[in-house]
Parts: sequence; C-alpha cells; structure tokens
Amino acid sequence: MKPAEKKQATHRTLVHEMLIVQLSFAAFVGVIAIGCVWWVVSWVVRDNLDDWAQRWIVEMESLGTGLYLDETDERFLELENYLARFPEILYVRYYDSDGRILYIEQAADDATAYPELTQADFLILIENPKVHNVDTRYEPLVRISQAVVTEAIVTIDLFNADSMNELETKTSVVGYVELGLDYDRYDREILGSVAFGSIFVLLAFLAMAVIGRIALKRAVQPLIDIQSPLEDMAKGNLDIQVPDSPHREIANIGNALKTAISRIQERDRNLRRLANHDALTDLPNRNHLIDELQDRMEQLVTERCSGALLFIDLDKFKYVNDSYGHATGDAVLIQVAARLRQFVRKDDLVARYSGDEFVIFIAGVTADRADDIARKLIQDLREYPLSHSAQSFSVGCSVGITVAPYPPIFTPEELISQADLACRQAKTNGRKRTSHFKADERQLDSIKSDLDWQQKLERAIQHDELVLEYQPIMKLSNETINNYEVLVRLQEDGKLHYPSAFLSAAVRFGIMQDVDRWVIANALSQLAEIRQQHPNIVFNINITGDSFGDGTLPQFITETLERNNLPASSIILEITEQVAIGSVSQAIPQITQLVEQGCEFAVDDFGTGYSSLSYLKKLPVQYIKIDGAFIHRLTEDKADQTIVKAVSDIAHLLGKSTVAEYIEDEKTLNLVRKLGVDYAQGFFIGKPTLTPWSNLPTRSQVVQLPKRA
Ligand code: GH3
Ligand code: MG
Repeated sequence: MKPAEKKQATHRTLVHEMLIVQLSFAAFVGVIAIGCVWWVVSWVVRDNLDDWAQRWIVEMESLGTGLYLDETDERFLELENYLARFPEILYVRYYDSDGRILYIEQAADDATAYPELTQADFLILIENPKVHNVDTRYEPLVRISQAVVTEAIVTIDLFNADSMNELETKTSVVGYVELGLDYDRYDREILGSVAFGSIFVLLAFLAMAVIGRIALKRAVQPLIDIQSPLEDMAKGNLDIQVPDSPHREIANIGNALKTAISRIQERDRNLRRLANHDALTDLPNRNHLIDELQDRMEQLVTERCSGALLFIDLDKFKYVNDSYGHATGDAVLIQVAARLRQFVRKDDLVARYSGDEFVIFIAGVTADRADDIARKLIQDLREYPLSHSAQSFSVGCSVGITVAPYPPIFTPEELISQADLACRQAKTNGRKRTSHFKADERQLDSIKSDLDWQQKLERAIQHDELVLEYQPIMKLSNETINNYEVLVRLQEDGKLHYPSAFLSAAVRFGIMQDVDRWVIANALSQLAEIRQQHPNIVFNINITGDSFGDGTLPQFITETLERNNLPASSIILEITEQVAIGSVSQAIPQITQLVEQGCEFAVDDFGTGYSSLSYLKKLPVQYIKIDGAFIHRLTEDKADQTIVKAVSDIAHLLGKSTVAEYIEDEKTLNLVRKLGVDYAQGFFIGKPTLTPWSNLPTRSQVVQLPKRA
C-alpha cells in the first residue's frame, strides 16, 4: 500500500466525527440530567419521609399510651392495621420506663435483628420528652424514638379565679416508643426508576444516532460529491465535472475548484507551449519538430503523396553577433523566423532546429518544386534586407533539401540528418545556394553521432554524470604546483569520454553554456573544500564563447564564488583566442568586468587562431598558454623555439606570463624554461586525474615541496 493510501485508510469520516461529537454531548447532558433528577427526587423523598416520620411517631406515642396506663385502648388495637398501611415502617417497639421491651409490632419477621435503644438513647429522650430523636447511625435503617409521657394536674386553687386558667401539670415519662423506618426502600425505587429512565434515554440515543447519521450524511453529501472530481484532479485528469451544490459553502468550494482547474489547464497549455516552442522565435523547437514531422508524415501516407524537408542555415551569422552584438543577432533571428513563416503555406511546418538553423517541411511537393521554393527564399532574404536599430542586414542562407518519398522509408530524424548533410554541402559549394541530399554513409553517421552526443550530454548534465579531472601546471621558477586546469569528461557505462568527442555537438546544439556552468559550479565547490587543506591552490577553468552569449557570466561566477566563500583570485578563466579576439563586442566587456573583480584570464591554445601578436596588447588577460603545436617538436624545431621565445618575450614586455602546454619529457621542460616560459603543463608534469593534490603536504604539515630530479 502506498503511504497516501495507508493514511487515508486510518482517517475517520466527517459524518462519524460529527456524530461522535453530537452523541458525546448528548450523553454528557443526559448523565448530568439523570444525576440531577436522582438527587432532587431523593432529596424530596427524604424530606417527605422526615415529615411523615414526625407524624408517625406522634401517632405511635398516642396509640401506645394505653399500653402504659393498663387500659384497653381501641386506638392501640388499631396499631397493626395502621402499620400495614405504611410499608416503609419496618417495626414499632415500645419500652417501659426501665428500657425493657414491652411490645413489638413488626412488618418483617426479623425485627429483633435490629439494634434496640440503649441507655444513652433513653437519657436523650428523657431530657426532651416531647421531642423525637432521629438516629441515622444504621442507614438505611433510620430509627425515630420518643418518650411516652403522661400528664397529671398537680394543684387546683378553687378560690383563685386566675389559677383556673393556669393549671399546673406534671409530666412523667412512662416508657419509650421506637419506630424503625426503611429509607433504602425509596432509594431502591428511585434507582429502579432512574435505570428505567436510562434505558429509555439509551434507546433515544440509538434512534438519534441512526437518524443523526442519515441527516448528517445527507448534509455532507455535496461535499462527498466533490471528493471524486478532486481525486481525479490529483491523478492529473483535468477533464472533470464539478457538481453544483445548494449549500453556499460547498458551492464556494466547487467554484474555487472550477477556477483552479481552469488555471491549471491554462498553465499546462503555457508549459506545453514553452516546452514545445523556442522562446526567441516562438517557432516549434527541435523536440517538438520530431513529433510534428511524425504527424505530417502520417498525413502523407493518408494523402498518398511525397513531401520535402528544407534545412536552412544562415550564412556567416556569427559575424552579425560579433559585429553588432548578441541582441542584434537575436532580433535578426526573430525576423528571419517571421520571414520563413510568411514564405510558406499556413499548413507547412517551420521550426527552429538550433542556433541559426531552421527546418521547413512542405507536403505534396517534388524535389524540383522544393528547390524552386528554396531558391526563392534565398533570393527573398538577399533582396529584402532585415532591419534592426536603424541598421539593415542582408542575410544569406544555405538550404539543404531532401525528399520524404511515398511510401515513407525514412524516420523524421533520418530526414533531418539528410537535409542537414545537404546543407553542409551547400555551404561547401559556396553558400547562398541549395543542395540536394545524396547518400553518404560516413557523413550521415557523423550527423547522427552529433545528435547522439547532444542527448547524452543533456542527460549527463541533468543527472550530474559529468566528471572533472585536474591537470597540474608547474611554476618553473620554483617548481611549485599550485595551479590545476579543470577538464570535463562525460561518464558513460564506466567509460570517460573526452571533450573532443562531444564538444562539437555541445556547441552546435547550444548546450555549451550549460556544460560550462556545470563545470564552474562543481569545480568551485570542490575547490572550496580543497583550499581548507591547500589554501594556495588555484583552478584554471575553460570558458567557451557560448557562455558569453547572454551577458550573465560575470554575475554567475561572482555568485558561485561568494556561495563557496572563495576569493576571485582562486580561479583563472581560460578562453580561446577566437573568443577573446573574435567576439570583441560581447566577450571583452564581460572579461573586463571579471578582471576588475579580481579574476585572472588566460588565452588558451595561443598561436592556432588569429595569431596576431598585436592583439595581445589589448587583451585584458594575464596568462598566455602557448599551443601544444609549438611545443611537441620543440627540441628539434628551431622555428618553434624562435616563436616560443618571441611570444614569451612579448608577453613579459606586456606584463603577462606564459604557459607551455604539451610538455612530455624533461628535455622539453628544460628548454621551455630556458626560452623564458613561466609555467609548464603536460604529461611529464602530471596527467589529468581526479585528485592530483592528494600527495601535496597539507597546511598542517611543513610546506616543503620536493625538488624535481
Ligand atoms: P556558416 O555560414 O558556416 O553557417 O557560419 P555561421 O557564422 O553562421 O556559423 P554557425 O552557423 O556555425 O554558427 C551559428 C552562430 O549562431 C553561432 C552562435 O554564436 C549564433 N547563435 C546561436 N544561437 C543564437 C541565439 O540564440 N542568438 C544569437 N544572437 N546568436 C545565436
Ligand atoms: Mg550559420
């Protein structure tokens, strides 16, 4: 069982919850009410009984007088009948003045079992002969006793008229009467009534529970009705009906749910659009292109016709970016996209494949017709220039064409690869022209491999499957190693692929910026850890031209340094000569900004690109890495030696340092040192490994590097 289901299984229902609250409250009130009734009734009965007891004792006393006067008294003889009328009187006992029992009248046979009055009781009665005594010591038996008295006139003054009114009497105690009352009898009766009442209340409770449950279920039914649409919604199904409710609160919930569903549907539409469309041109993107192509090709089958796929790559587009800036490049791309859209029928497919590459799919045309359209497109772009910021751009493009035959034999991916290959041919043939696909297995394989690498790379970035290796760079003046060049590898099934395998695909499909940022983020977090033990270590990190594209690189680097608590001086950023010199308008301001913040730059592979020494003067870089092409035959090649020395001398003149790559033996190392090079890197110094600093002494050990042999 999933956790959510488990949780649900233990939930109480709303109806039960409300019912329990209701019944608990009713039970509480019921118990209090029964308790009160019990208490009040007992109190009233007791009070009543006390009154009756007083009356009875007076009657008993007068009924018993005959017994003491030795007279036959009718009333005394009625005693038995009298007692029979009051079942709460257990017995009546008469005592003589000495405390001996004279007479007993009893309702039950075992009245003798009840304790008799004692001398102490008699003394109390003698003290107040006209007052009865209530003895509750033997509860529930309550004994009421009183003295039996006779009164006699003592003196009569016949001559005194006044004294006729005040006759002097003499009271004498002739015995005692005792009444035994059964108070328990009433308690039992009340208890019986309460028990009966409780059963009645309990039955009422059960009825209430059943009726309450039905009533509550009816009341919460609209809420239960909303439950199922909500569950469907949680499963991702938005095509649901929310029932209307007559209850205001539930109707509000229903309305809120409807609003939420329509918002989610809208957001889904937007997300789908974002996922399927290119943000810059709003054309379908590469992923969506494949799906769209699949649909179109199925349509071709239904309509039994062929179609043509045009692969369009703008000519020398880098020039627009480099000369007028990335923003202008973007504006041109947007306009090209709009122009392409206008150029074909509404139903034809136009998509942005990558960078300055677009794909058009036209159904129901032959190769000749497709060629016609492509030529007109090239002509249109050339003759009607695009404009941006008061500048006009005549954009050229090369178009590769392939035909999707009927019946279909190629997949969408294969068709794209074919048209792509044809487009490269058009470039080779001199640009601004069309070219038709002719099968060439080897070239097709290379295109497929690009696509393959693109997918692998994107997956590797997503799942953190890239690996960093570090190659040491030695300072030749003191043979210390503090610098390490960070080199990225792609890990696949335990194998490490070098950038040479995936770099061209990464650049073509615009993934290089993501790769660079992954490297910066991961290298800096590792550097922060290493510098705890080796505080002087500096990482050399390669930055490709694409990373300067959107102008956010300085901010990203600054933030990453800050997040890892690292100074800007802990990294040296390596850029190629093409980046530094080729895209002056874009890269240089960002490089300058980073240099002002304390970062240092190195020009990598110097000598292989523009190779203009005069550029060195303008570049805000601190290091020049002389390309391996000048080093690997250095000991034999005098020309290379001269170049290395010249570069070194000029660099020093400009206040920059040099690094020689590709050092593979000691002889070359000694030679570059002699030629004035400041740093050396290569297999002889150290191969790229995961943790080349592991043998270095840590900050807690004595810092003394071993001298190289
Ligand atoms: P070629 O004639 O051989 O096609 O030369 P090119 O200069 O057009 O070179 P290529 O097609 O290889 O390069 C396309 C360039 O487009 C590379 C990149 O700087 C630029 N680019 C790619 N995506 C964008 C983008 O979204 N905006 C801008 N402004 N430029 C982009
Ligand atoms: Mg191009």
